[in-house]
Amino acid sequence: MQIDIITIFPEFFRGPLDFGIVRRVREAGLVKIDIHDLRAFTRDRHRTVDDRPFGGGEGMVLKPEPIFECVESMKVAPREERAAARQSVVLLSAQGRRFDQKLASELAELERLVLICGRYEGVDERVGTHLADREISIGDYVLSGGELGAAVIIDTVTRLIPGAVGNEASTRQESFVAGTESGGDGLSDKLALSEVEGNVRPTRADSTCGSGGLLDYPHYTRPADFHGMKVPEVLLNGNHDDIRRWRRRSALEKTLHNRPDLLDEARLSRDDRELLADIAGEVGK
Ligand code: SAM
Repeated sequence: MQIDIITIFPEFFRGPLDFGIVRRVREAGLVKIDIHDLRAFTRDRHRTVDDRPFGGGEGMVLKPEPIFECVESMKVAPREERAAARQSVVLLSAQGRRFDQKLASELAELERLVLICGRYEGVDERVGTHLADREISIGDYVLSGGELGAAVIIDTVTRLIPGAVGNEASTRQESFVAGTESGGDGLSDKLALSEVEGNVRPTRADSTCGSGGLLDYPHYTRPADFHGMKVPEVLLNGNHDDIRRWRRRSALEKTLHNRPDLLDEARLSRDDRELLADIAGEVGK
């Protein structure tokens, strides 16, 4: 996969791209990331990238010419051919589609991803309407620039690329991962199907559970007793059915408490619904 970042602050990415999985996938040649300094595509002495807004108003706006020239220099496919070429030019914008795990999975299927980072009051609208094929927001708040958003997208997307994470099952069993909808999920699909049929037994010996769109279950490691804070007994007894049931219940509990909105879309079995009713009853007592 090729990722291109367009920014007026290339130095910003020293750090976010140099650690952990992102660094590993770059070093392994699974992902190539190029950072393009927008000012290199200006033609005036002052390397001007912004100008005042037509119609008046606050702040400055990033000019269209350097951004168009920069993207044109990359030989990206024309807008109408990008989907077929598995390419996308993204404008980071607070007004864009909200970034989530499903969108991350879609982007991870691409061969080329271009990320345009805005600054100031934003970017000339023609970049969004004529150059980018989508606008993405990383959340309902306003950042001072698109660079943090680009780093968030790169971090999330690169760990989904086959070979990026040692144990690939781990990226399929995390919070928000919905199963087939998010791009295929052998083990947790099988689990989810058997759950839908009302059978809570996994199809092979395993004590994890596919999230099916829930938040992840709690994780513990040694020591079993840390200053009196004990690991739940069930995790120590080696009974995989019990562990799996406890994890599922904990994931349901956490989702109900922190993100009840996710339950509307989650893949829930009959057992899950009974557990939820049970949890809600306990909370109501
Ligand atoms: N005037 C804009 C508005 O109200 O939507 C905000 C502009 S913001 C100060 C400058 C740049 O930061 C934007 O052009 C965009 O690239 C980036 N940005 C701000 N918030 C963002 C968010 N939630 N997600 C992604 N990018 C964001």
